[in-house]
This record gives sequence, C-alpha cells and structure tokens, in this order.
Amino acid sequence: MSIGLYIHVPFCASKCAYCDFYSRVRRDQLPDYHAALKREISGWKEKGVKADTLFFGGGTPSLLTPEQIDELIVLCREVFSLEGEITMEANPDTVTPESLRGYRAAGVNRLSFGVQSAIDSELKLLGRKHTFADAERAVYAARDAGFDNLTLDLMLGIPEQTADSLQMTLERIMSLRPEHLSCYLLKIEEGTVFYKRQMGSLCADEDTTADFYLAVCDHLKKLGYRHYEISNFALPGYESRHNLKYWRCEDYLGFGPAAHSCFGGRRFYHPADLAAYISGSAPVDDGPSGSAEEKLMLALRLEEGAGPLPGYDWEALRKRCAPYLKAGLMTEKDDRLSFTEEGFLLSNSLLAEIL
Ligand code: SF4
Repeated sequence: MSIGLYIHVPFCASKCAYCDFYSRVRRDQLPDYHAALKREISGWKEKGVKADTLFFGGGTPSLLTPEQIDELIVLCREVFSLEGEITMEANPDTVTPESLRGYRAAGVNRLSFGVQSAIDSELKLLGRKHTFADAERAVYAARDAGFDNLTLDLMLGIPEQTADSLQMTLERIMSLRPEHLSCYLLKIEEGTVFYKRQMGSLCADEDTTADFYLAVCDHLKKLGYRHYEISNFALPGYESRHNLKYWRCEDYLGFGPAAHSCFGGRRFYHPADLAAYISGSAPVDDGPSGSAEEKLMLALRLEEGAGPLPGYDWEALRKRCAPYLKAGLMTEKDDRLSFTEEGFLLSNSLLAEIL
C-alpha cells in the first residue's frame, strides 16, 4: 500500500500570539535545513516504498521558494515514485501570483490557506499578518494559477468572536467556495503569548463555543459539505487523502524537525530542534503503532466511525457505548459506531470513558 509523506517547514515570517507549533522567525538556517531534508529523503532510495500523498506543513511552507519546493517534489517522485495529492500550507501574506504559479508548476495540487477569520480585528488579535482582503486576493490568485482544490482554515473561540462575527466570517469565507474547510477550536497553550496575557478571559465560554461549532456544522451541511472528520468538511470527493491516512492508522513518514512518522508498526519522530536536525540526528523511537485502542480512537474522529477489529471485544465496547447511543451522542449503523456532532464536541472525555 502507498504511504503518505509529510515535510515540516519550521519557519514563519512572525509568530502568531496563540501558536505553539514548532517554528522560528530567523531564516538564516533555511538553506542548511533544505539540504538536510534532501539528505534524509534520499536515505529512503531503493527501499521499495511508494507514496501517493505529500503534505508540506509548518510553520509556513510558502516561505520556501517554488524552486525549493520543486526540488523536494522531484526527489520524492524519484525516491518514493510519488504520484497523487500534494498539499502545501500557505499564509495569504506570503504568496504572490508568480509564486503560486511556480508552486502549481512544481506539482502542488492542493493549497491550504490559514485564513482563520474574515474579521480584521480578530485577525489582529490573533497576531496574524494578513487581512481578510489579503486572503481573498490569495484565493483568487490561486484559482488563476490553476488550483482547483483549496482548503481554508477557520478558527472558533477567538477573543471577542461573537455569533454575529462568526456568521459574517462564515458567509465571507464560504463565498470563496473552497473545496474543503478545516475548523479548529482555539486552545490556549502554555508558553504562548495568549497564555501569558491570559487571553482566555476574552474568549467565549465553552457552551458558547460549542454553539459556534454546531452553527458551523449546520451552515456547511446546507452548502453541501460533508462533515467527514471532527474538524474537517469537504465537498464530495475533496476529503484530504493525506490526513485520512492519519485517522485510518496507515503508514506515513515525516521529514524535518518536529515531524512524526508511523511506519512498519512503529512510531518515531524528530525532536523539535532545527540545529540537531541539520546535523543529521536520527529520529527518536516512540513505541509500537496500530494497537486496537489507537485504531479505534483515530477512527472515531471520522464520520465513518469504527467497526469491529480482530482480537478486540467489540460487544463489550458496544455495551460501554450504550448510554451515549441513547443520549444521541453516538450512532450505530451497519456494525459501525460513530459520534454525532454533539458527540464530537465531547469526544475527548467520551473516548476516555469507552476505551
Ligand atoms: S503562521 Fe501558523 S505556524 Fe506560523 S506562527 Fe502563525 S499559526 Fe504558527
């Protein structure tokens, strides 16, 4: 079976106030990082591993030039016979019509823009450098460059977000007709500027944020999007093939600092340390992958849910789920269990109960 490839780009033009992803603003080590990536990918030559998805995530992959992206894609085609979905995350303020044409020519066929909100004051509070007009321009330029598969990120629970501002964001973002939308709840992580400034006090409470989430689900369903994963919505046929590999517990290899892999029954990762990565440090083992609990936990993130697994006591699981089925937080169909949208909202605590 073909695997997925992930490349982590640990650079950003500036640091957003809520972000705890591994990225740095100084870019003097970018050429060395690029060379280290190529070395690591080349190490998989002649191992007979094939890939059908590649995802450039970060960080801000659009800080790499089209030529640098092209070199990596060419190498992945050579090493992994890569063919299929090639996604690149981009920030609306780091792309131009020329760079977008370059990425498309290099083989990127799916773009992910971190739009987050259509309200400029909310974007400013988040520490984003773009305005919504920048995002619109980036989307139009991407369409002109030939991208027919776009995914946009939307954030819920932003400081000062209200039901009205969310409705406006939804209408404006959906007028861009993305094929796919990811919708994340803001979580204030320790170590971020938001944490230090105690920005949680400006965010809607849990119940209101839950209402925001259900309002988004409702709005997107009416527009014909399938809510195929807790945080992801797609027009039919535009589900993220790469991310589906994560949720279906299939193999993928991650390159770059802070990138994780799941391959050949093991999980391993590169620590979030750019200097160590450049010096060629080996990935760290993170134990076996593919236990029944892990598979169930991931599968239950999906609308398609989970079915019986060999060696796992399915009947006992069904019994543990019975109260949640009764409460409308789960459904059972064709011997598959899945969460409803209300269930998705509580999935962390429900998973702890049932698994
Ligand atoms: S652009 Fe993305 S990765 Fe970079 S700081 Fe902002 S949220 Fe984090």
